[in-house]
Amino acid sequence: MSATETATDSMQTPASFNDFGLHPDILKAISLSGYTKPTPIQAQAIGPVIDGRDVMGAAQTGTGKTAAFTLPVLHRMMPFASHSTSPARHPVRALILTPTRELADQVADNVKRYSDSSPLRAEVVFGGVDIAPQRDALRRGCEVLIATPGRLLDHIEQKNVNLSQVNVLVLDEADRMLDMGFMPDLERILSYLPKQRQSLLFSATFSPEIRKLARTFLKDPVEISVAANNATASTVTQVAYKIPEDKRKAALIYLLKSQDLAQVIVFSNTKIAASRIARELAKEGITAESIHGDKSQMERTRTLESFKAGEVRVLVATDVAARGLDVAGLDGVINIDLPYNAEDYVHRIGRTGRAGASGHAIAFYSDKNENLLHDIEKLIKAPIPKDELVIPEEFLQRYLPSSSRERQARHGRDDRNHRHDKHDRHSRHDRHDSFAKHYPAAKPAPIDEFFYRPYDAAKDTATPAPQEAKREWTPTTGQGEMLAVLLGGRPKNKNS
Ligand code: AMP
Repeated sequence: MSATETATDSMQTPASFNDFGLHPDILKAISLSGYTKPTPIQAQAIGPVIDGRDVMGAAQTGTGKTAAFTLPVLHRMMPFASHSTSPARHPVRALILTPTRELADQVADNVKRYSDSSPLRAEVVFGGVDIAPQRDALRRGCEVLIATPGRLLDHIEQKNVNLSQVNVLVLDEADRMLDMGFMPDLERILSYLPKQRQSLLFSATFSPEIRKLARTFLKDPVEISVAANNATASTVTQVAYKIPEDKRKAALIYLLKSQDLAQVIVFSNTKIAASRIARELAKEGITAESIHGDKSQMERTRTLESFKAGEVRVLVATDVAARGLDVAGLDGVINIDLPYNAEDYVHRIGRTGRAGASGHAIAFYSDKNENLLHDIEKLIKAPIPKDELVIPEEFLQRYLPSSSRERQARHGRDDRNHRHDKHDRHSRHDRHDSFAKHYPAAKPAPIDEFFYRPYDAAKDTATPAPQEAKREWTPTTGQGEMLAVLLGGRPKNKNS
């Protein structure tokens, strides 16, 4: 067989989870999760993984890729499932490496859910939290270990874990790991694993670097690609507003107060700005929290949990912290800054419009960074519709930075400005009251229960989006056909 083969070339894609021959405990977990039909990545990956093949998969979060590798890996672990309490009966047999703590946690949740009916044990280890409880858990033994590379090496050094019996290795978001400079860590971890093993690599893109990595550690892999490179989901409505930098805060607050956006992620390019924006929104009565690399792991986990629970309306995030996040029912993404790396735009807006639901992607740009918008359009090979956002005067007056307000006051006061000068003579308290009456902190719109139900492929195909031909999740046997939705790239900064 050639170095790689494409799964769709040789496989009949199963229409049902029953066709894979998965262990009954796993089928039960699938049914409890409410999944009725494999997503395309699952349809193509599960069979080869069960057969013990190495797999190289191009798929992003949102395509069902976690279950695509988790379900067959757990199936392969089933013969080793033991009720014994002896740690010796629970060696690490499957190692899943992820670039970020959030993703590790999310993958671990999936693994635990799918293995709930079996005695298989799963543990997760990542940095930024106390190492002692992780050490104790590792010493008790687990068949499936999910880890970020740095913390895993700490445990290896402390001899808390032995990887000599690992027979399946998964590299999740491998492109991201390379970007974050984890290659030396990966090489060290690989040196502790048996040479004879099954290896799976998942990445948003098959860049030359990823192909090089694949050549070094995959053997004769089945290559699966379910996404068109750098495509954006057809379920996401995009719009770009030209907003001068000093009006971005007013624009953001106006959008949040006037639009029916129940939950959104606001993307900022810097950690400092993310924290500041969250504070400013909170002052306006909009529940908001920031998530970025300067926050402790505990804070990040807590923030994410409250966001996922719908207690927080706006999550202000930097790219690294939000990568790979799976938040059900996210209405929109607002790029208050355009990303410097065009591929990040695709990742950012991929947080919304997931699993067939619709979403809004709003971007602010200005004369100063219009070139970034062009880079994005070049990458996604489509223009982003531009529109004018008319920000009511009272928002401008209220949220314009004081330096801009003074500048505006110095240059040409028209009647309208005079009116506002008069208005300014009111006490701040009065102004706040009248403003609040007109623009009360928008209550989060009730979240449609639909979004909390697991994605149902059958329902999705039955109700296509009214305007755009919604991509279907229906597996296909069509040769080389690109099936799924999102792909993209590489934020450069490990710490952002
Ligand atoms: P992932 O790409 O792994 O982050 O998964 C995205 C979302 O799709 C998660 O919330 C999964 O629970 C959900 N999901 C995964 N597989 C299926 C399926 N076959 N049917 C419906 N939902 C799924």
